[in-house]
Amino acid sequence: MIARQTAYVGLGANLGSPAQALQQAAQAIGRLPSTSVTAVSSLYSSAPVDATGDDFVNAVARLETALTAHELLHELQAIELAFGRERPFRNAPRTLDLDLLLYGGATIDERELQVPHPRMKERAFVLLPLLEIAPGITIPGHGSARQFLPLVRDQSIRKMPAAAT
Ligand code: AMP
Repeated sequence: MIARQTAYVGLGANLGSPAQALQQAAQAIGRLPSTSVTAVSSLYSSAPVDATGDDFVNAVARLETALTAHELLHELQAIELAFGRERPFRNAPRTLDLDLLLYGGATIDERELQVPHPRMKERAFVLLPLLEIAPGITIPGHGSARQFLPLVRDQSIRKMPAAAT
């Protein structure tokens, strides 16, 4: 067992009932061992990037966890599988996609796991919900997350009304 860390997980879905899938996924993450969910952003709707199908629904959750980064990744992958994710072809629509964005101040660069998530700085659907729940967050090795907002301002994304969640 290790000291609790604050981690951020990106959630995305564009098949079935995406808003419902995200809410259920956040609950499933909160039931992981030695883990609690301390914040979940609003839901955001965005056009697919590097993927096909309907618009995505995205959110970011903050966790406090005593799992290691690798244990957490494996648990997130098990939740994805439990939600019936199928990958018949590359970038196929997904029922549920969970990305480990940040894990404390850690920098990990392995084939199986890269933290901070290498593409998080380029994606409005990560940066906007992340900054909503963690306005002053820094990305280890890259400085303030906020500074990357201008790079994604042309991406089509909208915050969904709370009533739709
Ligand atoms: P994707 O299909 O985009 O969800 O990518 C899944 C693959 O990315 C898996 O093989 C993971 O081992 C790998 N991966 C590397 N870094 C991460 C990360 N920070 N979060 C989630 N998956 C990751």
